[in-house]
Amino acid sequence: ALRPYIVGNWKMNGLRATLAEARAIDRVAARYPAVDVGIAPPFTLVHAMAEEAQAMAVGGQDVHAKPSGAFTGNISAPMLEDAGARFTIVGHSERRSLHGESDGDVQAKAVAARAAGLGVILCVGETEAERDAGQAEAVVSGQLHGSLPKEGAEGLAVAYEPVWAIGTGRVPSVEDVAAMHRAIRADLVAIYGDAGKGVRILYGGSVNAGNASELLGVADVGGALVGGASLTAESFAAIINAAA
Ligand code: 13P
Repeated sequence: ALRPYIVGNWKMNGLRATLAEARAIDRVAARYPAVDVGIAPPFTLVHAMAEEAQAMAVGGQDVHAKPSGAFTGNISAPMLEDAGARFTIVGHSERRSLHGESDGDVQAKAVAARAAGLGVILCVGETEAERDAGQAEAVVSGQLHGSLPKEGAEGLAVAYEPVWAIGTGRVPSVEDVAAMHRAIRADLVAIYGDAGKGVRILYGGSVNAGNASELLGVADVGGALVGGASLTAESFAAIINAAA
């Protein structure tokens, strides 16, 4: 089986004072050597957090497709790597919807991140309207084919985050999670061959201490991408524990 991968996406939360919470999460990670733990803080905290982290990986939440240039306000993959990041999230639904990122944009970011030596967590997920229309698997499959890097599966993880489950307290049924993760696995194998079996598929969307063990027990759920419940060591520790 693949090593469980539990990642916190802090989104636009966290000041230097919050580094104490990251230290506490790092101490929890040290107690679970069989679980890969990551935190993606805002860019402003990446370097300070990476300097201190011993048992967890620190990552970015997004990355620009170009290594440098006239792109005011953006951060490149070599910059993230230089700051101590080991991975980055790309294609989060908040980037796709609020910043207009297309599958092609997400693919270019994933390629750039890997070229800089960063692991990639590539996010996909359907809206509620798409699920209601019976299109969830087709939408996710389209996102995978449009945004996964074609060069190979190394350093890659996929996060399935139904848009309607993010920050809402609503989660899909275990059956729906199982069906979607099975479909994503089939797409990964279609794209990468046998290497597609080694890609971890995380579930994200309202994961918390109460539902983590049920979600992580679903076939082909290789971990979790956690928003709100990753902001405190107490709730995040319970999710890490559920993965162990
Ligand atoms: P919540 O866990 O707050 O629902 O956020 C999920 C998410 O978007 C993680 O990337």
